[in-house]
Amino acid sequence: MIASISYVKEVMGELKAKKKYGQNFLIDANIVDNIAKKACDKELKTIEIGPGLGALTERLLVYSKDVDAYEIDKDMYERLVKTLSDERLHVYLEDFLKCDLSRYSEKVNICANLPYYVTTPILFKIFESELDINKITVMVQKEVADRLKAAQGTEDYGALSIEVQYLYDVKAEMNVPASVFYPAPKVESTVVSFTPNRARDAQFEKGFFELVKNCFRMRRKTLHNNLKDLYDEETIARLYAECGFKDNVRAQELGLTDFLNMYKMLY
Ligand code: SAM
Repeated sequence: MIASISYVKEVMGELKAKKKYGQNFLIDANIVDNIAKKACDKELKTIEIGPGLGALTERLLVYSKDVDAYEIDKDMYERLVKTLSDERLHVYLEDFLKCDLSRYSEKVNICANLPYYVTTPILFKIFESELDINKITVMVQKEVADRLKAAQGTEDYGALSIEVQYLYDVKAEMNVPASVFYPAPKVESTVVSFTPNRARDAQFEKGFFELVKNCFRMRRKTLHNNLKDLYDEETIARLYAECGFKDNVRAQELGLTDFLNMYKMLY
């Protein structure tokens, strides 16, 4: 079994965990099995990001039709393809942030114990892709989980929360202590799942998400300050009047409907 302290420590005798790649390996077999069970469907492909030594991959193979895994680290890749030889597993030695997701036309599940240094770019890449997603189940830092689930007006609320809540039902599946990883990270973690809640419209989303990101460009500034380099004063005045915004409103005070109204008015 790969998800065990004895196996991971044995391999770490030869390969050092690379901090620069966010390598914290899962060593608790029950947690790994639980995540894989929640994430997979027997009739669907699962895409895994950062399989590492294969702790999660091993269980994803049990519960999925097949698994495509993207690993950036050559040492991990070489070790993994030797350990897990299964014709239903395809491991790509590739940076997930650079891989071409348009190769997938079938419906997929996504599952990962994400490398924490690139969690947000990986999530944005998935959310903004045209993948036909059944469900996404990922381990993230608790702090990121709080941002993903954040409600309007709270400190954690931002472009990521709005984008994700527009597209998905977000659920915190379980909190995970640092002790189930080797080496143990300095932060607590949470497994979060995302289930699509609407039909996709790539063209609309591109423009809408760009507007949302622009509104949060400088968090501490007013909405007006964030918009003034992008639109003329007359347009901004009309926007405030039509949407009923107070003069000094900040982006984090606005809800999804406010952003949708803004987008409708501007475009
Ligand atoms: N899945 C394994 C587990 O749960 O034990 C390892 C998880 S570890 C937190 C993150 C993994 O992602 C590492 O194997 C790391 O090398 C890999 N990784 C880091 N950045 C990556 C990237 N941009 N693309 C693909 N894999 C990446």
